[in-house]
Amino acid sequence: MSDDKPDAATRERLLAQALAGAFPDAHGRYGPFGGRYVPETLVPAHERLEQGVARWLGDVEFQREYQQELKSWVGRPTALSHAPRLSQRWGADIWLKREDLAHTGAHKINNALGQALLARRLGAKRIVAETGAGQHGVASAAACARLGLPCTVYMGAVDMERQAPNVGRMRLLGATVVSVSSGDQTLRAAIDEAMRDWVADPEGTYYLLGSAVGAHPYPYLVRELQSIIGREARAQIQAQAGGLPDLVIACVGGGSNAIGLFHPFVADRNVAILGIEAGGRGAGLGDNAAPLSFGRPGVLHGSYSMLMQDADGQIQETHSVSAGLDYPGVGPEHALLQACGRVSYEVAGDAEALAAVRECCECEGILPAIESAHALAGARRWAQAQPGKRMLIGLSGRGDKDMLTLTQMLLAKPPAGVL
Ligand SMILES: *Cc1c(COP(=O)(O)O)cnc(C)c1O
Repeated sequence: MSDDKPDAATRERLLAQALAGAFPDAHGRYGPFGGRYVPETLVPAHERLEQGVARWLGDVEFQREYQQELKSWVGRPTALSHAPRLSQRWGADIWLKREDLAHTGAHKINNALGQALLARRLGAKRIVAETGAGQHGVASAAACARLGLPCTVYMGAVDMERQAPNVGRMRLLGATVVSVSSGDQTLRAAIDEAMRDWVADPEGTYYLLGSAVGAHPYPYLVRELQSIIGREARAQIQAQAGGLPDLVIACVGGGSNAIGLFHPFVADRNVAILGIEAGGRGAGLGDNAAPLSFGRPGVLHGSYSMLMQDADGQIQETHSVSAGLDYPGVGPEHALLQACGRVSYEVAGDAEALAAVRECCECEGILPAIESAHALAGARRWAQAQPGKRMLIGLSGRGDKDMLTLTQMLLAKPPAGVL
């Protein structure tokens, strides 16, 4: 927060509101962040969705159906695993919340399933979604197949080439994958196209957004659907470890797995909370994907939040070794939690994350997603600074999808000193 850092009194007020669970307010705002900055043509669709969320999300029948599917199809509750060898090596008491064990291999299915069920209640005849790395596209395609809803996934042409295996998975799951060759040909352009499709028929079509970003009510809706992670983890760690953790930590791309894990702990003032962004190759513009650490506030995809942008407000290219963290924005609730001081945000770079993948594999027999390994790398650093603490780490997904990158970066390189 370089430019408009709130003064001490404002910080205190925002913190008290955050601890009391006051966000979002009636306008979808998280203090100065969030809101709904969309063109006139998109307003009715968002209002309709907001009414649908208010009508259905707390509905007993809707929740019964959602919880039943989470249990029997997604495989929830996911395990909370103690990590004895990492604990010993790092000098901390490490617990892993295993979203890698959820169906399709990551937390994204919690959101995709919940929104697909909501779409059906709202009478939608088809689903549109966007995807960058393809993980949200796969989760959406799977949820839609499960519910018998046609699914169209917009994906940048560049991403389709980079993430070819996920394109195949989506097609096998019955989705139509549309290549987007406008704009930057990656996630940002894909989001624009999915929005365009949605507004053409906002009643018959439902736009299934993949992270805790976008205009109100999406950041709220996604948080509510992902909070199952934190609710389960909170009960599990109390039962298994005999108390709350000292620190809760997760990786932050758009911020959905992190807000889902964090939200049930926000009011626990003795629990420190830490989000880890993609530090990439370094602190230079274009070398990372860390808007909370290196960005400035602005509007992207309908929401006011922290962004990677240059001095003229142009959105900057981002870089991360992990495709799922490679996004120039972040959900508005994270911007608020940072501004009021409740959550700290740090970066872990490409090299640290890759090293953490290897450590987690070797010590615990778990191949984490490279995204999740950013949280592990942050935890490792924190354990060195403050040894002996109980740490709850969100393991957002499994790393099988990353084998191409991991083979190139970790396995193909000869050991140092060998020609
Ligand atoms: C997509 C993804 C992320 C990043 O998305 P968030 O919305 O920030 O959670 C993190 N981990 C995995 C495994 C992912 O697939």
